Amino acid sequence: MYVIDMNKLKIGLDIDGTITDYPAFFAIISKIDQFEIHIITGRGEDDRQSTIEELAQYGVRYDYLHFVDVNWHGKGQICKDYNIDFMFDDMDEYINNIPVSTAVFKVRNEGNWNTLSNKWYE
Ligand SMILES: [Mg+2]
Repeated sequence: MYVIDMNKLKIGLDIDGTITDYPAFFAIISKIDQFEIHIITGRGEDDRQSTIEELAQYGVRYDYLHFVDVNWHGKGQICKDYNIDFMFDDMDEYINNIPVSTAVFKVRNEGNWNTLSNKWYE
């Protein structure tokens, strides 16, 4: 018998280049009841208040707000510590350090996609 897992799926969302580029999409995603939302940003603690205000402007709801302060291993550690199921991010520097137990959705944007060659920037 197939048993539906009633535990909430844990979703990690980057802010810059991810939520900032597709705010309407992530506002909707964040309000799905079955999701536990973890904002995992490379910003520092100093940006906490302005970040809270910015997320409110986007209409993004969340359960946890994590600041890793440009530590390339920081997001991977949060994914590991909190058993994040799915992570949305745009930067390989973070993505490459996320454990395989977390599925990753890479967001394409002006910062990581070369529109002239139609390739990811290396
Ligand atoms: Mg980003």
